[in-house]
Amino acid sequence: MDIIKKLENRTFTDGELIRVIENGCEGLRERADEIRRQVYGRAVYIRGLIEFTNYCKNNCYYCGIRHGNGRLERYRLTKEEILLCCEEGYRLGFRTFVLQGGEDPYFGDDLICDIISAIRRKYEDCAITLSIGEKSRESYEAFYKAGANRYLLRHETADNAHYSKLHPASMSLENRKRCLFDLKEIGYQVGSGFMVGSPFQTAQNLVSDIRFLMELEPDMIGIGPFIRHNDTPFAKYESGSLELTLRLISILRLVFPWALLPSTTALGTIHPMGREMGLKAGANVVMPNLSPVSVRKLYSLYDNKICTGDESAQCRSCLENRVKNAGYEIVTDIGNVKRK
Ligand code: SAH
Repeated sequence: MDIIKKLENRTFTDGELIRVIENGCEGLRERADEIRRQVYGRAVYIRGLIEFTNYCKNNCYYCGIRHGNGRLERYRLTKEEILLCCEEGYRLGFRTFVLQGGEDPYFGDDLICDIISAIRRKYEDCAITLSIGEKSRESYEAFYKAGANRYLLRHETADNAHYSKLHPASMSLENRKRCLFDLKEIGYQVGSGFMVGSPFQTAQNLVSDIRFLMELEPDMIGIGPFIRHNDTPFAKYESGSLELTLRLISILRLVFPWALLPSTTALGTIHPMGREMGLKAGANVVMPNLSPVSVRKLYSLYDNKICTGDESAQCRSCLENRVKNAGYEIVTDIGNVKRK
């Protein structure tokens, strides 16, 4: 059996997967696009990203908004500002709002629940997605009750030794996994994922990532290249490659035909046509920024992040064109996963 079939049937060995990760294989991208079209047609789902705080208590070595970055001006959006972002987003056709931030203790459970309930009351037909890191099961339950229905939490790397090279000892892969399984059990649609080309990553690590995802079966899988940030311990490391990221998107489409796969901002940052190429490689989601322009530059996960100067409406129409030119079509839709 050829390797493409083995990926689709999930019968590949680690060695076979490593060979595809390292060298690609004939027809991979074409097959990924074919499967994506079978499951999702030409539709591209959009998610409006609201980056509501850049305060963070954690110290992930790769991330620009880490606690230890003393050079960053910090901000928080108020509930009213967040609601204004949603209002603008709804008008622009967004039916999913993603509230993302650092792990900011100022936003305790009650405040988060209050914000979620306010959005839920106004936008019954929208999905509310949270991406605010590791919390207790009780907190996740409270957010769910308040009206949140999706959660994004990348596992970052599924290898313990690699995880400890990217994070301080206070953080663990075990807790991150616990969070992901709790979220799933509670009933959230869950997104996980990893950075491509993060420092010390090996092809075997990527195999572990894919095997872990097969265990978790998330609804969304977000991957993007690692990009250095000047004010982090990883300031001197090379970014992840465009080619490897695209290849992994295609591999993920074969192994997870129904998955929501975003073509990420990080991919658009390392190449001007990165997001278009991501879509052609099998991705079917884009997540433009709905944050107020005044704070966008401050949500600096990595250097040279794109789209930090444009108004939301400009981003929306720019993306519309990009998606169209790539051969797909943005739809106004809540954009749920289509399971087998
Ligand atoms: N605090 C939240 C949100 C983190 S930011 C959480 O813990 O989930 C969202 C994602 O950005 C991270 O999961 C990480 O994969 C990615 N990211 C952070 N720093 C990055 C960098 N330097 N290059 C590329 N991606 C990065």
